[in-house]
Amino acid sequence: MATLFTRIINGEIPAEIVYQDEHCVAFKDINPQAPVHILIVTRQEIPGLADLPEEGDHKFLLNAAKKIAEQMGLAGGYRLVINQGLDAGQTVDHLHVHLLGGRPMNWPPG
Ligand code: 5GP
Repeated sequence: MATLFTRIINGEIPAEIVYQDEHCVAFKDINPQAPVHILIVTRQEIPGLADLPEEGDHKFLLNAAKKIAEQMGLAGGYRLVINQGLDAGQTVDHLHVHLLGGRPMNWPPG
């Protein structure tokens, strides 16, 4: 069965898409944790970072994040987060990068 994020990518569930290319689609998080909170989701259904094949070119994720941050006007900075597994609080088993910005970020992230 398709993941929640694949259903969003396919247009079955509405979301505000802000960027897409051949490898990934990015849309606003439904429960934003910062003024800007974007999810960058791989078109391929990969359950999480732990399942990303070691071979292959994955720089598209970072390039997409950089482009979206520019598009969103986050010149002051931003944070990328990947939650992998239960300990990190991953809730959707489809690889995605959170792009957070628009406010100062705390460290450690908790
Ligand atoms: P995770 O906890 O797996 O790292 O992140 C999943 C994210 O997906 C959460 O930040 C959550 O708010 C977001 N999310 C869950 N369901 C939906 C939805 O239906 N639409 C959108 N746009 N975001 C969702």
